[in-house]
This record gives sequence, C-alpha cells and structure tokens, in this order.
Amino acid sequence: MSALPLRNGRKLRAGVLGATGVVGQRLVHLLADHPWFELTEVAASERSSGRTYAQAVCWHLDEPIPRAARSLVVKSLDLNLDCDFVFSALDSSVAGSAEEAFARAGYPVVSNSRNHRMDPDVPLLIPEVNAAPLDAIRVQQKRRGYDSGFIVTNPNCSTAGLVLVLKPLADAFGLEKIFVVTMQAVSGAGYPGVPALDIHSNVVPVISGEEEKMESEPQKLLGRWDGERFIDAGLGLSAHCNRVSVIDGHLECVSLSLKKIASLAEVRECLRGFEVGQELQSLPSVLRNPIVVLDEPDRPQPRKDVRAGNGMAAVVGRVRECPLFDVKLTLLSHNLVRGAAGAALLNAELLAARGLLRPRPVDVQTRASLVAGISGLCVK
Ligand code: NAP
Repeated sequence: MSALPLRNGRKLRAGVLGATGVVGQRLVHLLADHPWFELTEVAASERSSGRTYAQAVCWHLDEPIPRAARSLVVKSLDLNLDCDFVFSALDSSVAGSAEEAFARAGYPVVSNSRNHRMDPDVPLLIPEVNAAPLDAIRVQQKRRGYDSGFIVTNPNCSTAGLVLVLKPLADAFGLEKIFVVTMQAVSGAGYPGVPALDIHSNVVPVISGEEEKMESEPQKLLGRWDGERFIDAGLGLSAHCNRVSVIDGHLECVSLSLKKIASLAEVRECLRGFEVGQELQSLPSVLRNPIVVLDEPDRPQPRKDVRAGNGMAAVVGRVRECPLFDVKLTLLSHNLVRGAAGAALLNAELLAARGLLRPRPVDVQTRASLVAGISGLCVK
C-alpha cells in the first residue's frame, strides 16, 4: 500500500457530485477502502436528495454498494458539504456552473465533465501523459479569484485511452496524423442512456459532440503549458465515433503517421516499455506499465480485456503496417474506469501527492455560505 501523503495519517474527505450516475457509482466503489481518501458526502439532483444512497441509486456494478456509502444521505448541490474536495460526475447540463460555484467556495473540484476541459486555465490531466503543467492551477485561482478552490478535469472517455497510447509514440517517434474510428460502449452514455430499441443488434453511427472532443482534447493533452496558457500539439486528427451494443469498454481502430521511421517491432516495444516515472509510482491507482500489448491476432476484445489492470490499462493489439499512414493498431480502454472514475481518482491522487489537496479549514466553510447566497446554489 502507498504511503499516506498527509500528516497524522488522516485521510482526506471526498465528496462525489453526481454520485448516483454510472460514473459516480464507480467513484463510490473505487473510494471504498482507498488508502488516502474517505467518502463523506454524496450529492445528486433533487430527484435523489434526502434519500439514503442505497435508496436513491440504481446500482449497476457487479460488486455490492460499499457498506459505508449505503447510509449516507444524498444531498443536493450543497456548498457546505463536509469534505475537503469533490469529484464531479455531474451531467453536463449542470456541471459547468456547479463546478465553478464549488471552486469559488473553496473546494478543489476533480471533474469528469466536458464543460471546463478546454478552458485555457484548466488542466486537462492524464498523470501518465502531462503531469507537469499543474502550475495552471495557480493561474486559474488568480484569474478567477478562487482562494483554495480550483478545477482540474480528465478527458473524454474515448480520448483517455487514445492519448495514453499516443504519448510514448509521440515522445519516441513524433506524431503527424491520427485517424481513429471508435466503437463505444453503451455505458458511455450514462443511465438510462441509449434506448434499447435503438442499440440492440445495432450500431449507431453518431455520438453527439464526441468527434469534436476527440479531435480537440488530444491537442491540449499532448501540447504544452507556456506559463500562461495551453498550446495545442498541432496534430492532424480525424475521428469517427460509433455507439455499439457493448456494456463497458471503448474499442478504437487507429492509423498513425509518424515523424521518424519506426519498425513495427520498435512501435510494439515502445508501447510495451512505457513506464511511469518515480513520482507517479507512489500513487495508489497507478499502473507501472499502463499499456498492455497483446500479440494474439483477435485481441483486444471488450469482454475479455476490459478489466486489464483493474480497468486502468489501455490494451493494444493488431499493430501492423498501414498502406495509407505508417502504422495501424486496435486499442481498448474501460470507459468508466480509465475514461472516467479511475482517471479522476488518479488525478486526485496526484493532486494530493503534490500537496494541492488539504483538509478544508472551518472558516472556509463559513465563507461558502456567503458565496452560495450570491450563486443561488443550495446551502442547508
Ligand atoms: P449519468 O449516469 O446520467 O449521471 C448523471 C449524474 O448527474 C446523476 O448523479 C444525476 O443525479 C446528476 N444530475 C443530473 N442533473 C442534475 C441536477 N440538475 N443537479 C444535480 N445533479 C444532477 O451520467 P454519467 O455517464 O455518470 O456521466 C456523468 C458525467 O461524466 C457527464 O458529464 C459525462 O459526460 C461524464 N463522463 C461520462 C463517461 C461515461 O463513460 N459514462 C466518461 C467520461 C465522462 P440523479 O441520479 O439524481 O438524476
């Protein structure tokens, strides 16, 4: 087990906004028995608030609801939550303003939602890819007048696996163009998500807004921070996104052109050998080698491979020559773990390891009431 980043061995208290949704449930599950964090608050819409978590949630995981979470009372978006930081797994219709209000009230917000990902002062973070530019947090706090609060985001679920695989290739050979076709699981649409009559025995060749996210987020993730703002990587990127009748796991067929010539063996070796640095190795949810390369000609497959590395691995197979580009491959990642809850948890672990998450002082909680009065959000 990793060493606690805090004095006195006290765990940081986490709240989950959107705790009843499919991403929120994964977070609640991953937070049970976490060595650094304990779940103290769950919040969701007015439909769920006031009920115990066990009553409010429509639980989808195979494992039971963690005992400690069952009896927590679901709050509405209450700016006086008893926690040191919040994860946001809120629906995007409400996430934008709610996350800003929580950050303004002094809560670090570790978000899954799309709303702030491309803001010029908000880190879009995959620790294995771009852990360095967390300086953006200080710029964000200054610009927005936040005190101890801030917003950090993780990418869209299909971008997460793709960029994890692109990173070592970009470092070793340079990237020019990427063409990707996705086959995305139904859990990526939340609950109740895509109607059964639309998706059963079918493929839906559109996911609203998804191609735009896949074409823009990698630019920020693989770009750089210049001290004031994020500069895009300038990659040529084209994405086709499809919804398929799979429960969990996004499969992606990727063609790449590289700046430097590389053999297929070198590409496989580069992916297989990708190892996280010393700092990340202390984080409880990190995989030392987050990319798994399979040699079987018919893998990866969602049913067989989605749980690789507890859902935190990107699984790559079918690395071969591409007649149009240089190399093509197939990759799979768990949309709810690597692409959402696990990604947010890893981001929070990095923030805690860097001392950016701290026990929330009591006077900040009092100030939250004033901010709530201004924003119109609920304070109980
Ligand atoms: P979901 O299953 O639809 O859950 C949405 C959550 O938001 C529920 O807890 C819901 O509470 C809450 N909510 C909705 N309206 C609200 C309101 N007006 N006030 C307060 N809470 C409200 O969606 P999801 O798939 O978990 O996605 C959550 C977020 O993560 C979204 O922004 C999504 O884009 C993003 N994301 C999802 C995935 C994925 O694979 N699913 C991956 C990456 C990112 P009630 O239960 O009370 O309605």
